[in-house]
Amino acid sequence: MMRDDAALVLFSGGQDSATCLAWALERFAHVETIGFDYGQRHRVELEVRQTFRTRLLRENPGWAARLGEDHLLALDALRAVSDTALTRETAIAMQADGLPNTFVPGRNLLFLTFAAALAYRRGLRHLVAGMCETDYSGYPDCRDDTLKALQVAINLGMDRRFVLHTPLMWRDKAATWALAARLGGAALVEAIRLDTHSCYLGDRSRLHDWGHGCGTCPACDLRRKGWERWRLTAD
Ligand code: ZN
Repeated sequence: MMRDDAALVLFSGGQDSATCLAWALERFAHVETIGFDYGQRHRVELEVRQTFRTRLLRENPGWAARLGEDHLLALDALRAVSDTALTRETAIAMQADGLPNTFVPGRNLLFLTFAAALAYRRGLRHLVAGMCETDYSGYPDCRDDTLKALQVAINLGMDRRFVLHTPLMWRDKAATWALAARLGGAALVEAIRLDTHSCYLGDRSRLHDWGHGCGTCPACDLRRKGWERWRLTAD
């Protein structure tokens, strides 16, 4: 049956989901991770997932005792149905509807549904995901209302009582760095800085104060501005 003290974290290898993983490890006795291979243009996100997990296991024995299996699911169908700057060699641009063409329609709906299906089998009651609508790219499937509706749909459709946690929903990127510092101190901030990836262009060749990235794409821009705002207020 479902374990009340166990969680599944949607862990993409980015800053937000890495912070959520630490958040879950503070709260739950058993934590598993899930990632999705949907034909991302850049494989680096999938590669840093393992680097980050390995670093946590090495540096934090308390968390290591709680961190369970990692699951990687192939979702080739998502690439087949989408035509976006994250899945095709297309320049990043704004669309007529005001959304960037990095928006992959249905992505988070599918991810959470598959995560719940896995959590159902594994008996994990809590789902933890890093969506945020405070300081974000405007994706409609990151919004609080979408995710609350999805929790209801999943629970009805699977006849279970999953709890979907989105600890970053009302935090901006500066507050996300502050949360990491509170959860895991300088060591976790350094792990996120070095071993997570946000850049849409997959650039790992340049290391900035805020981590690796091209420095100019929208994802780098959000990450850099958040870091700078956090550094202004941190002691
Ligand atoms: Zn970038």
